[in-house]
Amino acid sequence: MTTALIWFRRDLRLADNPALMAALEAHQRVVPVYVHAPDEEAPWAPGAASRWWLHHSLSALDAELRERGSSLHVARGPTLATLRALLRIHDASAIYWNRLYEPAIRARDTRIKQALIDDGIDACSFKAGVLFEPWEIRTGQDQPYRVFTPFWRKARSQLQVRPPLPKPESLVPSAGKAGLRLAELELLPRIRWDRGFHEEWTPGEMGGHAAFDRFLGSGLRDYADARDRPDRQGTSRLSAHLHFGEISPMQIAWTLEERVHQAGDSARSAGAESFLREIGWREFSQHLLFNFPHMPEQNLNPRFDDFRWGDEDAVAIRRWQQGRTGIPIIDAGMRELWATGIMHNRVRMLVASFLTKNLRQHWLHGARWFWETLVDADLANNSQGWQWTAGCGVDASPYFRIFNPVSQSGKFDPRGDYVRRWVPELAGVAAALIHQPWNDPAVLEATGYPAPMVDLGASRAVALAAYQQMPR
Ligand SMILES: Cc1cc2nc3c(=O)[nH]c(=O)nc-3n(C[C@H](O)[C@H](O)[C@H](O)COP(=O)(O)OP(=O)(O)OC[C@H]3O[C@@H](n4cnc5c(N)ncnc54)[C@H](O)[C@@H]3O)c2cc1C
Repeated sequence: MTTALIWFRRDLRLADNPALMAALEAHQRVVPVYVHAPDEEAPWAPGAASRWWLHHSLSALDAELRERGSSLHVARGPTLATLRALLRIHDASAIYWNRLYEPAIRARDTRIKQALIDDGIDACSFKAGVLFEPWEIRTGQDQPYRVFTPFWRKARSQLQVRPPLPKPESLVPSAGKAGLRLAELELLPRIRWDRGFHEEWTPGEMGGHAAFDRFLGSGLRDYADARDRPDRQGTSRLSAHLHFGEISPMQIAWTLEERVHQAGDSARSAGAESFLREIGWREFSQHLLFNFPHMPEQNLNPRFDDFRWGDEDAVAIRRWQQGRTGIPIIDAGMRELWATGIMHNRVRMLVASFLTKNLRQHWLHGARWFWETLVDADLANNSQGWQWTAGCGVDASPYFRIFNPVSQSGKFDPRGDYVRRWVPELAGVAAALIHQPWNDPAVLEATGYPAPMVDLGASRAVALAAYQQMPR
């Protein structure tokens, strides 16, 4: 009987898993392993919210494996040495995994693959987490794209959906000794700040598909408009499931094609296309990170290397993190993030604009806080989102486009429901004042809600003046 390892990383699913399927086709026994080595991902090792999700997702994967007669062998330690030990323990001659594209992980995986091949091990990697490999879509001049619209036009025209690979029905149990208990990885917080997370999320493959089914049932028809409304459940809430590979973009694209486009309902079809376009943004982020690996730390637009950000202001950053800025929509977003590990996309843009423009703090302060607190923290999407909003990315929102959080919340949270939910001290405030309660000092006094930490108009003018001084 030949044995192979399937090395799970961020492809925590059994269906549509190309590495698992290839391993099962070539070997009688396939041993599922997970190796915990966060130091190898430094400086972007998973943050606290992400570790919470990872724990529960690994636990869900292990349960699915056990239902099929196998289980997840959990190990910790330098990855190459640990994989070599696991290959020995399980008497395996081959290892299969699905590719990831973060610079530190890519460099490590390349080293590991070569070392294992030199050991005489059959080491095979596969595409699983993206529709396109990040090197596949190129301009006519054979360059990476820097602008989303032509990138997606080309990608969309080349997209060939295929039916998802099936889940294996049963697996041969491993004969080697058991690994660590999941709890020994200490992924969960010691102080229980995660109560809100349990109410909000079901990590794992089943949870991902349940979220997708819910969205397909009720969310597609008016997605294009509803996706901008934080006061409604207008989006799929699939980002963490996608990040951890509990559902694949190909499963999504196939389902949209088969169940929506083929059904011929034009409103749902239009919603499906705009939803797929957002998945396209995810592809674009991976494309950028692969082709510009300095993106997590350095401006994609080098002009911004000479931009004068404000002096680092630890107190201001803290108030922003804690949702005590005195601007209701900003505070609602930051408190939603802390309580649930997620923040609506529109509000992410608003809080990022406020931090980088009204407070003039470097975008990395925000990117690092999001990294620690988001359950969907994703190096490609997060770096791209921050650089886009700060204005220093490629195809970015120009720096001089400074969101006005008052008019934005009036437009996208018209009755103030979102603000009332996350800033409960303002729950009783009338609609006319909910977005700018400082207009009536009695409201601030009665609710204890702080006055704005900066004047929106004056801080905007300072930011624009700094932008004017940036060398052309
Ligand atoms: C400052 C900032 C930081 C961000 N950080 C992250 C992050 O760390 N991880 C993350 O997954 N997304 C990030 N985003 C993108 C976006 O906010 C989230 O993907 C989205 O809010 C997730 O909710 P959803 O799954 O309901 O999205 P839906 O609207 O249902 O979209 C479906 C999927 O498309 C992808 N997607 C949607 N919008 C974007 C986008 N603008 N860029 C890239 N992919 C997108 C996501 O995978 C998402 O799950 C960030 C955006 C900003 C402005």
